[in-house]
Amino acid sequence: MQKEHLNKTPEVAWIFDVDGVITNPAEKKVTEVGLIEEISSKLDQGDIVALNTGRSISWMMDRVIKPIEEAVGDKTKLVNFLAVGEKGGAWASFKDGELVIEVDDQIFIPESLKAEVRHLIESKFAESMFYDESKLTMLSTEMIDGRSVPDYAKEQLILIEKMKEILENPEYRSLDLKIDPTTIATDIQNSHVGKHFGARRIANWLKERGIKPIHVIALGDSQSDTEMAEELQGEYPVEFVFVGDKSKLDSSKLIKKPVFTQKQFGEGTFEFLTSFKE
Ligand SMILES: [Mg+2]
Repeated sequence: MQKEHLNKTPEVAWIFDVDGVITNPAEKKVTEVGLIEEISSKLDQGDIVALNTGRSISWMMDRVIKPIEEAVGDKTKLVNFLAVGEKGGAWASFKDGELVIEVDDQIFIPESLKAEVRHLIESKFAESMFYDESKLTMLSTEMIDGRSVPDYAKEQLILIEKMKEILENPEYRSLDLKIDPTTIATDIQNSHVGKHFGARRIANWLKERGIKPIHVIALGDSQSDTEMAEELQGEYPVEFVFVGDKSKLDSSKLIKKPVFTQKQFGEGTFEFLTSFKE
């Protein structure tokens, strides 16, 4: 049995979006050499490391979670790692050295709705999209790797209309579900999940363990990632680091001005982590 390493006032709680911040969104894996080691070294230093993404836990497992586990020198520090997936609906943490996956059982998609959307994708959009079977609390459809994003955008408009028709069914109307289209995916989710909800999950996890970080640093590459800082900036000093296209960012709701990196995406994350001094 491992002894828990609980520093109650770690210097930093790091919160990372995954796609475009740790993994390369086109290749759907980590391509930045040394990035995983850099993130893991924050755990070795005693910081908190959390992930906050719409991806499933199983999607993150071999790409991010296991590589971090392997790269951490002092495995007892893994108690300070939390991976929040499905926009807050599912999460994974280490207990006695074992990874434990939990889900919010208040958040679910009816099996009949999953079956309808799966059938829709397979019958009308099988050339360009697939149904993501790995999600536990939400429903995701995604562009097949390597397809053209502009073509996907056109088909996505048709898909959204068909999803709307399905959600009009009285069986689903009362479930408070919404459609969330992004560049390469179209999700149906409980209307209160999102980056803010994932960030709240992380804050609650810290509080349950009596941990009060001195700073929170959240890294994102999309507009919705600002919700992480918006959700937590009333409780902690929060730094928001943006590694996406800064000309597109509206940061008007942030108390502190965002930090921009020179490089973008995984390279920007690596740049920030390696230049950061606690
Ligand atoms: Mg992202």
